[in-house]
Amino acid sequence: MNFKVKVLGEVFEKLEIIKSSMGEFERCGVLFGKAHGNEVQITDIAEIENVKKSPVEFELDPLQTLKAFERAEESGIDVVGVWHTHPSWIAYPSKKDMEGMKIYPGIWIVISKSEVRAYFGDEKGFVEVELKITGSPR
Ligand SMILES: [Zn+2]
Repeated sequence: MNFKVKVLGEVFEKLEIIKSSMGEFERCGVLFGKAHGNEVQITDIAEIENVKKSPVEFELDPLQTLKAFERAEESGIDVVGVWHTHPSWIAYPSKKDMEGMKIYPGIWIVISKSEVRAYFGDEKGFVEVELKITGSPR
């Protein structure tokens, strides 16, 4: 399937800031937005604590993740995926990320020190998707 992923300019800026302030451990969080078939619009992101505190893997803090889902529901939006950083590797899904995609299918944004890349992943595998930066919908 051919996925179209649009991201608001101001949200892409947040991803760029994360890219330039990577830190020692992987950072992670969720993507808010709306999905219509194979078209996804990312309207905001939230950072969630990486309970693994590891430079090579992440696990979203469960309570903060629950709160993020509640926040989305209150605003009438959805959690359309996750983002995380690779402070010491390229912006490509690791073996562990592929396992994660089976449990959390959706858009996966991976941020390395030099790149922001997006993938759609599920139990069948993953494909890279292009991030189209758009203006504010207002
Ligand atoms: Zn990863």
